[in-house]
Amino acid sequence: MGLAERLAEVDAAIADAARAAGVPLPTRIVVTKFHPAELVRELAELGVRDVGENRHQEAAEKVAEVADPRLAWHFVGQLQSNKARAVRRYAAAVHSVDRASLVDALGSDDGSLLDVFLEIDLAGVPGRGGVAPADADALAERVLATPGLRLRGVMGVAPLDEEPAAAFARLRAVGERVRALAPDATAMSAGMSGDFREAIRAGATHLRIGSSITGNRPIRG
Ligand SMILES: *Cc1c(COP(=O)(O)O)cnc(C)c1O
Repeated sequence: MGLAERLAEVDAAIADAARAAGVPLPTRIVVTKFHPAELVRELAELGVRDVGENRHQEAAEKVAEVADPRLAWHFVGQLQSNKARAVRRYAAAVHSVDRASLVDALGSDDGSLLDVFLEIDLAGVPGRGGVAPADADALAERVLATPGLRLRGVMGVAPLDEEPAAAFARLRAVGERVRALAPDATAMSAGMSGDFREAIRAGATHLRIGSSITGNRPIRG
């Protein structure tokens, strides 16, 4: 199966799951990490507009090489504060905001707006990315108080050792608390190749799908 077929197959599965759940069609972000710029160009020709990357250096190089203004780049990986300003220059959204220092570093008063998602730690493993659910409200307040950021909602990765539906239900509950503070923060970024159907059923508005569309990631040299 080629790229176009895999994309069509995943999109059909997304549409089926959304229809069955009675929810609007979520935004499908194709995560292109480890794949060359050429693959992003092919995806753009197939109509993809939202792409995801998880490492700043790789993303910055690809953004420059692809140079396609139709694309929105979503940063989905762990982000060091000292790279935040650089990521802000090309990213439409950062899905992995998990601490106050990163919020501060991402802020800007130049009049532009960056979409941010609070990454929630669903595994209970501190240090691996994600704010503890109990600390999400304070982090949301911090985003709301920071110029240049638009709080869209929450993001999560389901742990490997748990039913994804249970993890996504927790994510949704945290999202509802955040929405009580910020009524516009209605988004939920959840669901990868292996669990996007469960995420759609739990109310995901943004799916981050890599390998089932792009094929296996090349081994890094
Ligand atoms: C790589 C990655 C994805 C996509 O994973 P697949 O299993 O290849 O679909 C989604 N979210 C994040 C944060 C990732 O790093």
